[in-house]
Amino acid sequence: MNLEQQDKQYVLQTYARNYTNFVKGVGSTLYNENGKDYIDFASGIGVNSVGHGNEKLAGAICEQAKNIIHISNLQVIEPQVKLAQKIVELSGYDMGIFFANSGAEANEGAIKIARKYGETKFDTKRYKVITLEHSFHGRTITTVKATGQESFHTPHFSPYPDGFSYEKSIEDVYKAIDEETVAVLIELVQGEGGVQPFEKEEIQKLAAHLKEEGILLIVDEVQTGVYRTGEFLASNLYEIEPDIITLAKGLGGGVPIGAVMTKHKEVLSAGDHGSTFGGNYLSTAAGLAVLDVLKPMYDDGLIDETLLYFSAKLKEIVNKYGNLFEKEVGLGLMRGLRAKSAEIQGSIIQKSMTEGLVVLKAGRNTVRFLPSITITKNEIDEGFKRFEKVLNTL
Ligand SMILES: *Cc1c(COP(=O)(O)O)cnc(C)c1O
Repeated sequence: MNLEQQDKQYVLQTYARNYTNFVKGVGSTLYNENGKDYIDFASGIGVNSVGHGNEKLAGAICEQAKNIIHISNLQVIEPQVKLAQKIVELSGYDMGIFFANSGAEANEGAIKIARKYGETKFDTKRYKVITLEHSFHGRTITTVKATGQESFHTPHFSPYPDGFSYEKSIEDVYKAIDEETVAVLIELVQGEGGVQPFEKEEIQKLAAHLKEEGILLIVDEVQTGVYRTGEFLASNLYEIEPDIITLAKGLGGGVPIGAVMTKHKEVLSAGDHGSTFGGNYLSTAAGLAVLDVLKPMYDDGLIDETLLYFSAKLKEIVNKYGNLFEKEVGLGLMRGLRAKSAEIQGSIIQKSMTEGLVVLKAGRNTVRFLPSITITKNEIDEGFKRFEKVLNTL
């Protein structure tokens, strides 16, 4: 049996998989088993924030693995405490952190914090969470229900938890708030939904309104966090102060980690929430190494340089291939090209693999780019050279 046949026999077929077998990565270049190279504009869906084979990250993981990988959360875990401190300092918010293992789990934590807040801070219990259409918040039964896409709420998995509703726009959120609403959960740039950023002014207005009403603002930064938009958090870029923020994808550079942070540090108490693996030595040592790589790059203006360079390339593409694309979308290194049809989107993604380029899809017709934050200009140039080759065949 070849790898594809083995996969089909032994792995549950929940993904529409591509069967390119990558065996090595260096920076933003991947190599398959035959040595063919691919420019990686996807970074494992925004996860490999410092690229592949990063010495600092690999070194920190090796050192930690040779020492202690895991001891339970019943003990204090030094790298966990240090990572929490680092994230809080970089965010600029006075918050406390709970570590989980994924984005969905971080969002579960956020919803638990909101629900308990809603029970303890008001005369009558508040539990409803408003989210937006085209949002994506995870795949657990609760976070899939929080996700504002009907196609995700298939009857296969019902009944789902109560207390979630979806609005078409930020404007509609105001009208949807009632006396049982405890929180509004949003992405500042909708990732899976089509790489769609919200206007800064409308987010700031919403944040101010929720603060006035005593309703929590939860920002899902699972994809936007950890320098993806150019600032440490998209919340920093939007200059808001959410009540709760969730992180995951880029934080561990590929080692699974999730985090929920909140300024309402007193809401959860011992026994309210927990995780066996969350925040263990290995994942938090990885998180510390990732931030050690990215923070100096940010301070030196290198991340800004990269995102401007990437952005200029996308503009060139839209100008040159107006027959294929409507416009470029997104922020920072979370970008997309809105294709004129789903067919164009599909064939670009497929043909890119043949040309040695990994790109992603988002929404119905967006080609998505989530390169690693450390991607070089040479890699960007080479990636777009291959991308144009693909476009010229269409
Ligand atoms: C990827 C993603 C999630 C889910 O993260 P998992 O680690 O897959 O559970 C949640 N929210 C957003 C915004 C995401 O992009």
